Amino acid sequence: MHTLSELNDVLPQRRQSQRMPMLFVGHGSPMVTLSEDGFAKAWRSIGRSLPVPVAVLCVSAHWMTRGQTHVLAVDQPETIHDFGGFPQALFDIQYPAPGAPALAAETTSLLADFAAYESHDWGLDHGTWSVVRHLFPDANIPVYQVSVDMEMSFERQQALGETLSSLRERGVLIVGSGNVVHNLRMIRGDGPAYDWAETFDRWVASCIARRDFAAIAHAPERHSAFQLAHPTVDHYAPLNYVLGAVRQDDAMLSFNEAIDLGSASMTSYLFA
Ligand code: ZN
Repeated sequence: MHTLSELNDVLPQRRQSQRMPMLFVGHGSPMVTLSEDGFAKAWRSIGRSLPVPVAVLCVSAHWMTRGQTHVLAVDQPETIHDFGGFPQALFDIQYPAPGAPALAAETTSLLADFAAYESHDWGLDHGTWSVVRHLFPDANIPVYQVSVDMEMSFERQQALGETLSSLRERGVLIVGSGNVVHNLRMIRGDGPAYDWAETFDRWVASCIARRDFAAIAHAPERHSAFQLAHPTVDHYAPLNYVLGAVRQDDAMLSFNEAIDLGSASMTSYLFA
């Protein structure tokens, strides 16, 4: 596993190939996107280092469907402010990136075995724009989303990710946006990380480092802190979609390894 400082050792070799790197990003609180010096700094630095993608496909924890996979197929997605109780500055943010309807149609066909449908009833939710606006501040790269099917097993989500992985050769940047640990009920201001949060975060990192993605899929049975780390599984799901699309020869790099607000892991991974 590499660190962010080794980014420029990892990425150039990938530039020789046609395969786009891939990200899992811990997005945390919507407030993170407003900070210039915090976790978003790493997002910006990675955005500057990545090859320019044809489009960004984001699997966001905040687009949940049941028994179906929806693919955002609009020309010009709206910026959805899907939260409450935050400062006006967050509601003022617009991320006017174009959509990718042709790629969305192709992605929907690719996912025929996963009950996939094109959708015109969503936009870019904050799981997507809070991160992607830092990766590509000019909003000039088309962005579309694939929903999280809340009824799908993590194993099946990894299989879906494997199916998506061919888009990497097409120049599509796959981004999973969630959190390795996400327990909103136990959030505590500036308090220290809970022990169970750090333990689970480190366990996931060790599974990823040894490419034991089956353990990630079976975390509810394998790790006693899973229920505390994920009272609901929406923020854990995007990690599974991304891990499914990892190739054997992808190098791996982790960044933003920290627990924010006691119970939100910001730990993120780049595969290239
Ligand atoms: Zn979230």
